[in-house]
Amino acid sequence: MIEKRNIPISLPVTGEEEWQAVKEPLMSGWLTSGPKVRQFEKEFAKRHEVKHALAVTSATTALHLALVALDIKEGDEVIVPAFTWVSTANVVLYQGAKVVFCDIDPTTFNIDPKQLKSKITNRTKAIMVVHLFGLCADMDAIKQVAGDIPLVEDGACAAGAAYKNVPAGGLGDVGCFSFHPRKSVTTGEGGMITTNNAELGEKMGMLRNHGASISEEQRHHGPKPFILPDFNMMGYNYRMTDLQGAVGIVQLSKLDLFIDERQKWADFYKEKLGEIEWFKLPQVNSDFKHGWQSFVALIDEDKAPFSRNTIMEKLQEQGISTRPGTHAVHMLNYYADKYEIEPDEFPGAKLANDTSMAIPLHNRMTKDDYEYVVQTILSL
Ligand SMILES: *Cc1c(COP(=O)(O)O)cnc(C)c1O
Repeated sequence: MIEKRNIPISLPVTGEEEWQAVKEPLMSGWLTSGPKVRQFEKEFAKRHEVKHALAVTSATTALHLALVALDIKEGDEVIVPAFTWVSTANVVLYQGAKVVFCDIDPTTFNIDPKQLKSKITNRTKAIMVVHLFGLCADMDAIKQVAGDIPLVEDGACAAGAAYKNVPAGGLGDVGCFSFHPRKSVTTGEGGMITTNNAELGEKMGMLRNHGASISEEQRHHGPKPFILPDFNMMGYNYRMTDLQGAVGIVQLSKLDLFIDERQKWADFYKEKLGEIEWFKLPQVNSDFKHGWQSFVALIDEDKAPFSRNTIMEKLQEQGISTRPGTHAVHMLNYYADKYEIEPDEFPGAKLANDTSMAIPLHNRMTKDDYEYVVQTILSL
């Protein structure tokens, strides 16, 4: 008998350093976007090899601003993989545009470039390219099909990931990242937009700050802080606070350590669990650098001793938290009703929805934890 452990699906690594980091903005009194956010942006841009990085309140608001900046509006279509987090689709509706779902390849969980072609019409104004669970989508194949259609990377899970040596965030026209606690690095809530396009960068910079022509910090430290800026467009308040920026700087400095450690344990899982016939491992091409936001397998229910849900229940009884990878958005009531879609219309997404299972992989786990997970799964 192995002693029972309690292993959450995810747990952020935060502590003394982050605690100390928030002290500075609190003591100085500059709490909204200011020097800490600027430094975080600069370091994030450097790590992801992009010209511009703009901190915002979440990946969802990052994705929204990307679509606003690309002038997505009513009558336009935006292609979204059917298996992703719901907000990749919701932001299209925020703009009054139409979500056109495309199936995924369940071996990678990413958009299927072969099906993508049949989804493009003359109304297609953007494609949401999701790098799910930290694995980059097949950008070359997508670009070949997409031609000039703007690509928005949903890299919410993909901080630090790369495709053929190019980091996520610089693979399309705009990149979007999340710092929710479930992701590799966190600021509580938070997001980042990346782009190499100066015009889009400038526009998104204004859009996140009510549409103001200059930031609060620029005005405050400029020659005439008493003159309010011009507002040439309708914007939003999607600004990250300097408290979050300060935490983000510390977290970002650990990103590569976190990924290396996750890579090591992902390899361990693959080695130990690869023999199980019904446990289909996540696939990674050798020229991709996986960000390992999570480790998601597919359960082959024809061969497995139990259904995916029963396996999850049995693991939970042993103290091991698991989750479905994410959800098929076309199967959520809202989208199924709105567009009258049947689950079978996107069989790859449905399969992933029904049989994917994330097992714990995070930087608060010990060697004993990983061994416990492996032994428990092997004993099912
Ligand atoms: C987490 C996630 C989001 C949303 O990120 P938030 O920062 O919580 O808004 C969007 N897309 C994908 C693929 C995600 O995993």
